[in-house]
This record gives sequence, C-alpha cells and structure tokens, in this order.
Amino acid sequence: MAEWEAVIGLETHIQLSTESKIFCRCRADSWGQPPNTNICPVCCGLPGVLPVLNRGVVEKAVRLAAAVHATIAETSYFARKNYFYPDLPKGYQISQYDEPLARGGYFDLPLPGGATRRLTIQKLHLEEDAGKTKLAGGQRYVDMNRCGVPLVEMVTGPDLRSADEAAQYLIRLRQLLRWLETSEANMERAQLRCDANVSIRPAGAIHLNPKTEIKNVNSIEAVRDAIAKEIQRQVREVESGGQVEAWTLEWDEDAGMLRKMRAKETEGDYRYFREPDLLPIRLDEAWRTRLLATMPELPLERRARFVREYQLPEYDAEILTEERSLSEYFEAAARAYSGEAKRVSNWMMNDVLRLVREHPQQAGQPQTAALAGLTPAHLAEILTLVDSATVTLATGKALLEKVIATGTPPRAIVEREGLAQISGAGALEDICRQAIAENPEQATQYRAGKTTLLQWFVGQVMKKSRGKANPQETAHILEKLLVG
Ligand code: ZN
Ligand code: MN
Repeated sequence: MAEWEAVIGLETHIQLSTESKIFCRCRADSWGQPPNTNICPVCCGLPGVLPVLNRGVVEKAVRLAAAVHATIAETSYFARKNYFYPDLPKGYQISQYDEPLARGGYFDLPLPGGATRRLTIQKLHLEEDAGKTKLAGGQRYVDMNRCGVPLVEMVTGPDLRSADEAAQYLIRLRQLLRWLETSEANMERAQLRCDANVSIRPAGAIHLNPKTEIKNVNSIEAVRDAIAKEIQRQVREVESGGQVEAWTLEWDEDAGMLRKMRAKETEGDYRYFREPDLLPIRLDEAWRTRLLATMPELPLERRARFVREYQLPEYDAEILTEERSLSEYFEAAARAYSGEAKRVSNWMMNDVLRLVREHPQQAGQPQTAALAGLTPAHLAEILTLVDSATVTLATGKALLEKVIATGTPPRAIVEREGLAQISGAGALEDICRQAIAENPEQATQYRAGKTTLLQWFVGQVMKKSRGKANPQETAHILEKLLVG
C-alpha cells in the first residue's frame, strides 16, 4: 500500500476591523443587528451610486502584507468578479485580480517540537463581502448587512501537510491579526473564514494531483475535522482504483460531514474585468515608509527576544506572547522590578492570568483590560513587598485583587489596612500564645506526641492574623511555646 501525503493550501477571508465598510459609510460591524438595517444604496448596489474607497482598509491590509513579508504593489487595481447569487445585489463582487495589493510573502509556522515550516503566501487582495441568505419555512431570505464589509483575502501555497498543521496555521494567523489590530479574527462572527484546497500524492512525490475545495468552515476544530475527513476520503477513492475529481465541497457543521456543492468554477466563469468606478490604489513611497515605521515587533520575534533578554523558558515566553497586551504588560512589569524577570513571569502565569481568565472578555478588547487598576508598576511593587518580607506571600496575592478593584498603589493599601507582616518576638508571640490557650485539647495532643498538629496551629495563627503572620517564624515560636 502506498504511503500518502496530503497537500493543503488555505484561502482565508479576513474581516478588517475598520469603523466603516469598504466603499460606503455604513458601519462595518453589524453583528447581532436585525437583517437589512445596516445598509445604504452603495453597498446594496442601487443604480447610479459610486463606491469610494475607505483609506483605513488599505492601511490595515498593508500592515498585514508587511507582517507576512509580501511585496506591496505600488499600484494595484480593483476588478469585478461576476457571478449571480441572491446575496450579491450588484451581480458582481468588487475584488482584485491580476494586480492585487501584495504578492509573494511567507509565514513561518512553528510546529510542535521546535521546528518551523515556512509557508508561502501567494497573494493578498482586497474585496467586499457579500450578504447572507437564509432558508426558513420553505422561503429563502436575504440579509445584506454584510454587503461591503471590508475583507482581505490571503492565499497560502500548497505547503501544509496535515489537518493539524492547517489548524495550527489558523491559530497563529489569528494571533497575528489581533496583534496587528488588523482584525478581531473571531471565527464565530465570520471575521475569519477559511476555504481549504486539499489533494493527496504519494509521499515524497513532487507533482500535484487534482484537488477539492472545502468551503464554509467556521471554526478551527471544523477546519481540522473537515480536512482530516477529506484526506481519508481521497485516499479511499484512489486506493479503490478511482480518481479524485475537482469538486467544491461544503462542510456541514451539524452533521460533521462534507457535501458536494458543485463542480468547481473556472476563472473564466467569473469574467473578470477592471472596475471602472474606482481609481487604482497608488501607494507612494513616503506613505508606505510612514506606515511601516509604526509596525510593532511581531509575536515570534518577541517570543525569541523574551527568551534571550529575560532568560525566560520557551514555555513562559510562548504564553506571555500569546497576546500583544499581555506581552507588553509583562515587559513593563519586568522593567519596573529589580529582581529576576522569571519571578514576574511566574506571578503572571499563575496569578495574573487566572484573574484575566476569570474576567468576562469583551470582543476586541485586550486581555489586560481585565486588570483594570493593576498597572505593571503595581505588580512590580507587590513583588518587592513580598521580597522584602514587608507582607507575606498570602497578603501579596490578596493585594492583586485589591489593586485591580481600586487602583490604589499596593504600599498605600498595606499601610491603610495594616497588612504588614507580623514578625518578631512581641506581637507574633502574643498571637501564638492566644492560639494555644484557645485550643488546650490540641495542645495536649501535641505534647503527647502528635507533632503533625504544628501545621494546624500555624493555620490558626494565620487565621487570627488575617494572613499577616510570617509562617516560618510562627512555626518556630509555636514549637518553642508548645514544648515549654
Ligand atoms: Zn452601505
Ligand atoms: Mn474572495
């Protein structure tokens, strides 16, 4: 039996997070709005109207093109892609064709085990989204709210080799899009959609076989499932003496299966021609230079730098760079703190991230919004208070939530609420004596040899001191008092 290798390329449609649509002033985002309430004559394609290009769309797309190392065209053109479908009121989609915004980039995909696969990015082009149709009660309805929503279509080469790699690519792409503030990339809201081209060939071969295109996959899990099923289907087909035909398949989310939609259109069917109602996009050198100067450091570069500069383990660096605001927060806290950055990282991964995750997140908000009053400098201050034994570890952790809620500097809270650690013979010894006096039975048991009760007494002292007692000193004093 031959060994088969899958050859997968992904086409993604990415909704750019601009305020307004691509060619009119309607809001770009109409998630949750009633059908046909966010439309105008331009996006509905009424006769006599003219489109006007939204500059913000070009800026966001150019930033993405730069991030995937693509060559940005000085001049690119819009084209009409003609097809007839009820959700496309004009009878054509304004897209780009032979002269797209950018071509020829790459995307480095980290694979498990530390390897990287370099995917080619064939091209990026701008286009408008179409509306949606919906079948209900035997009738077909059309909602045009999404007509004219700005999209960038980004196409990879046939460089992915498994369903898992395809899913990984989408996870990394989503991270990059949010990082660049190009798109909120929420798949459930159709802000990131994916079509997959799938074929198989004998492992190690270099030729490409006929491929199928899978449409309508709306989550990362669905992409993984649909591609895995399609690879299996093609292998079965070929091994039983058949051939793979160039079909377009639709993923049925509810049934978890692929259905044949139609034989694939060929380019000729679309009768592309230049859009006569729009000028070419010309990006002059000065504008591009200015825009590219505002590009942030990218996630993988930052991850590598965190390992190098702060001596973080790969694992920490990966988690702290999952999202841009979090990585910036870490770095600001590490700079404000005089101790080792790894300690900041530990607190962030254990305590701060837990608080972030407990907080309900709003779409499009940075993760650190959940931290409200807790600035990176405040976090560094809490660590310093714990390091200097001004407060106990337990108090330090409790301070996180107090500072989030109030924004008051940690040191001020410690003073106001009297949270400083209790240590030294005087005050601490008094509390220990009280704890013993209040629990004579346990004290007797301890003296009779049940020494495991020492920890229980430490717990009593912690409770009485509201977490302020120095645990090591407490144990030491209790031991002395209980024996004596
Ligand atoms: Zn409109
Ligand atoms: Mn498209």
